[in-house]
Amino acid sequence: MSERASEPSASGKPFVEGERILLVDSKGRQYLVTLDAAGEFHTHTGVVPHTELLGKEEGATVRSTTGARYTAMRPTLSDFVLRMPRGAQVIYPKDLGPILMMADIAPGVRVLEAGVGSGALSMTMVRVGAIVTGYEIREEFAERALANVRMFLGEEAMERYRVEIRDVYEGIDERGLDRIVLDLPEPWQVVKHAAVALRPGGILLAYTPSIMQAARFRETLEDSDFELPQTLEVLQRTWHVEGQAVRPDHRMVAHTGFLTSARLLGPVPGGLKTSRLT
Ligand code: SAH
Repeated sequence: MSERASEPSASGKPFVEGERILLVDSKGRQYLVTLDAAGEFHTHTGVVPHTELLGKEEGATVRSTTGARYTAMRPTLSDFVLRMPRGAQVIYPKDLGPILMMADIAPGVRVLEAGVGSGALSMTMVRVGAIVTGYEIREEFAERALANVRMFLGEEAMERYRVEIRDVYEGIDERGLDRIVLDLPEPWQVVKHAAVALRPGGILLAYTPSIMQAARFRETLEDSDFELPQTLEVLQRTWHVEGQAVRPDHRMVAHTGFLTSARLLGPVPGGLKTSRLT
């Protein structure tokens, strides 16, 4: 199986042309650089020609023309998501990890994702082995997402990722899907389509910046064959740790979005929703 340089399994592999690497300076500042034999990395400390990085391995250090030191590493998924080219706003690592758990994304799982935006959530799901079809209304975002997923995961990952330019509010063609994951303004418009596109036991999840959107989505789920609804937000507080000064950081990202999920019931007579349906 071929490996992409940006995968964790690439340890001990030399940096190659076209690869994105992270240069970290002595103050911990990070720069994402695309390696190119003719390229140069420019900062206020001077220049590092890319030829000094090509062929080196992770952990290699280089010096700029004024002697500043940079350590070269491969970006983590989180590093990449925060620094990759963006069209639409991305879902942040804080929520990407929990989405994998809440929607139970795993190798071979068939997922429909809408919309794909910049591809942050797409690459997170494709990287753990899911087979992802994206619906996206804006062509330039679809292209951005495809380019970002390819850039981080490599060509072989594209066998498990495709994007169609279409409006998910108008319907879903796929059947027997395992998961549907939404990041768009009106997820409640997708509930009726999800109910026929998912297999029984399938999971529908929506990421919504506003609690009003989450509430409306929950109301629509109430009147559907979805059960076990859950809504949560993820709070992440980083700490300042320096000698005796150990305390929470003064600033935190206080809000990104709410995660709501539910599972589709099977056509079981006497199922959980029978009383409401009759
Ligand atoms: N989760 C993405 C960001 C998605 S931004 C990421 O992590 O990178 C929301 C996207 O939904 C936008 O690209 C927008 O064009 C798309 N969108 C909005 N309404 C849609 C619809 N009805 N069908 C498909 N895509 C839609």
